[in-house]
Amino acid sequence: MRAAVFTETGGPLSIENIDPAPPGPRDVVVELGASGVCHSDLSLKNGYVGIMPGTVLGHEGAGTIAEVGKDVSGLKKGDRIIASFIPACGICWFCLHDQSHLCDTEFEIMMKQRGKRADGSEYSAMTGLGTFAEAMTCDQSSIVKIDTSVTDDQLALIGCGVTTGVGAALNTAQVHPGATVAVIGCGGVGQAVIQGARIAGASRIIAVDPVELKRKTAEQLGATDFVDPNAGDPVQQVQQLTSGRGVDYSFEVIGLPETTLQAFNMIRKGGTAVMVGMTRAEASVTLSTFDLFFNEKTLKGCKYGSGQVRRDFQRYADLIETGRLDTSAMVSRTIKLDEVNEAFRAMEAGEVIRSVITTF
Ligand SMILES: [Zn+2]
Ligand SMILES: [Zn+2]
Repeated sequence: MRAAVFTETGGPLSIENIDPAPPGPRDVVVELGASGVCHSDLSLKNGYVGIMPGTVLGHEGAGTIAEVGKDVSGLKKGDRIIASFIPACGICWFCLHDQSHLCDTEFEIMMKQRGKRADGSEYSAMTGLGTFAEAMTCDQSSIVKIDTSVTDDQLALIGCGVTTGVGAALNTAQVHPGATVAVIGCGGVGQAVIQGARIAGASRIIAVDPVELKRKTAEQLGATDFVDPNAGDPVQQVQQLTSGRGVDYSFEVIGLPETTLQAFNMIRKGGTAVMVGMTRAEASVTLSTFDLFFNEKTLKGCKYGSGQVRRDFQRYADLIETGRLDTSAMVSRTIKLDEVNEAFRAMEAGEVIRSVITTF
């Protein structure tokens, strides 16, 4: 079976044949229909967070179940599914308190060995998935069955970009009708935040990105104002667009301390800044505690759009099906598995919103 495997920090992924182990009693084998190439794949490849050589990358996928282990319930061969890059076990403390995006089994599932590479060494899979492959074997808690007519290339985006971005607006921030919003970083996830804010009824959605293509796509997806951070201080530009007050909600969708601080500085008194982008493990930020206190500001973390995948995946699929959420404009290119390294280059060059692998 072909897969794109991480072998060394900064180097290209190796396209190779791997030999998956037979599925365990709780495992599900999924034949992938599509896999998005997300910025977090690039960040892991480039060493933002340490991972083991011999990891199949990819964490944003949709497909069809090919086989289920003997103890799997509620899933069967032929079911269409979206993979969740954070498992939702349904029985840990967090799952039982409506926070399945913080499920306690995440680390254990991520560390599982899944089979052998051609040289005989064992491989594991990013977040317990590994969607850059013809098929993947995952724990049943990572799999969500979907009933939809939406095609896999669109559906795959729900696995990360849509759930993270739309969820950041709807779940984490709970943007209210008429709210003002700024989004710093308009890649795949940023565009999904913009759409989430639009769906929530925001009156003004300010897209902040230096790349013209991304600002243009943002306009198509519901942004009302555009800020080029290279054309002047983005905080001042956002304040000018909001009567000098600042926005109700800002979203940092890059993962840098500098832009996190900008997000915090561009909210109004009593406003909320949400940190959506994946950061380096060692990064930190220094904030004005007086500003935090005196202006009653909130800075929130946001993991996976605070997504409750068993509730949210179907509702996002329904929003796509009825045309209220546009994933087609977020897919810039459909590619083959062999082109994944080229997709990383295009992403770094700002040429694409999302590349989606549809041929494995
Ligand atoms: Zn992702
Ligand atoms: Zn759990």
